[in-house]
This record gives sequence, C-alpha cells and structure tokens, in this order.
Amino acid sequence: MNLSQQEQDRYCRQMLMPGWGHGAQSRLKQSRVFIAGAGGLGSPVSIYLAVAGIGTLRICDCGELELSNLNRQILHDDSRIGWNKALSAKATLERMNPDITVEALQEQITADSVAGLIGNADLILDCLDNFPTRHIINEYAVNKGIPVIHAGVYGMQGQITFIKAPETPCLWCISAGTPAAVFPIVGATAGVIGCLEALEAIKYLSGVGTNLKDRLLIWDGEKIEFMELPQKKIAGCPVCGHLSTAG
Ligand SMILES: [Zn+2]
Repeated sequence: MNLSQQEQDRYCRQMLMPGWGHGAQSRLKQSRVFIAGAGGLGSPVSIYLAVAGIGTLRICDCGELELSNLNRQILHDDSRIGWNKALSAKATLERMNPDITVEALQEQITADSVAGLIGNADLILDCLDNFPTRHIINEYAVNKGIPVIHAGVYGMQGQITFIKAPETPCLWCISAGTPAAVFPIVGATAGVIGCLEALEAIKYLSGVGTNLKDRLLIWDGEKIEFMELPQKKIAGCPVCGHLSTAG
C-alpha cells in the first residue's frame, strides 16, 4: 500500500527504526484493529495507535462521559460531558491524525453483538474494566483466531499479556474471572499500561519486534517494579481446549 508524501513525513521518525521503512509502515496502514473501550486504557492505546498510522481504528464504547472519568480518560475533556465516549474518541483521534479512518461503535459488547462489532479485525485491544465482557471477546477471538492484547489496571497496578490461542493460553486459562466493581485508579497507571499495550500492537502489526506471549507482565506502580508470571494453558479449558497448537 502506497504512502502519501504527507504520511511519509508524518511517520518519518518511526520509519527510521531498523527493519521498519515503507514495508512496516504500509502494514500498519492496512491494519484494522478493534479497541474495546474508550476509557482509561482505551485513551492512550487509541491515541498512540492513531499517531502511529494504524489505518483503521474501530473503537467501541456504549458509555456516556462523566466527570469522574476525566482523571484518566484523556481522549475526552470537560466540554464533552454527556457525549458517547466512542463518538468523543473519534472526534479526538481524527483531529490528531486525519490520515487514518476511525469508526465509532456505540453498542454494548454482548454474546449476540460481538461478531458484528469485531468482524474480521486483525487485532483486538482489550481496554475494558470488567471480566464478563473480556470473556465474551476471548471466546470470539479464540474461535476466529484473532490475537488479543489483554490489559487491566487497578489503583497504581496493572497487567498486560499478548494472547494468540492456540499458540498461547487464552484469557480463560489466565484468569477465570473477577467480579466487576467500581475500583480506585490513578490515571497515570492507565497511561503506563496503555502505552505498553499500544507498543505491543504496533510491534505485532508492523512485524518489528517480539510480543509478550506466555507471560503476564505485572506493574506495581507504588514500588516502581515490574514482574512477570509465566502462563500455561489449562488442560480442558472450555474456550481453547479443543484447539491444538498444530492446527
Ligand atoms: Zn484457554
């Protein structure tokens, strides 16, 4: 896919990366990603994917912007209280980079709606705040063979991993579920984890670098420490257990 002169100028600093050039940048331009959630994680994730030149961002959020969102959801601002967050995200991202396409989906992700919302995306970014919805996405992604970058934040802590079943454990193998609740969160924590999530996506889509497979990276912002937990498939996992790595 050809890059315009404006695109070559816009992305010239990342195209200087070893192994990047026109090839990787064209791959980013052709990519379609699904971003689940336009909140604390979805903000840094979508902003960095937009400015990196990911060709099509499909961002999904059925929520309306509230004042209490604004300590972390930097896609939005005070003037947009009451807006649908996906629409607000589209307005912000198109202003940041008019060379990409942003699709705003205002629907709730359910077992019935998930296929129509995600479709044949190349990659799914989990920027959600609850495990029931994550598990709906996980099941769809496993069955369609679409990789997912999972991330979660709480307080000053966060976690992230790259899932591509059956090559890696699926989200069910990693976490069978945690109840949804209103939880404390410092906005910069979502910034740390969201930036890692965006970088994982850019590496996967460009083909430059390696991904965080079979490892759950944990960030403890209070102590400024990263740690890693190795991840294994659960034998008989109800979501990915029927797939073989050979297939
Ligand atoms: Zn599994």
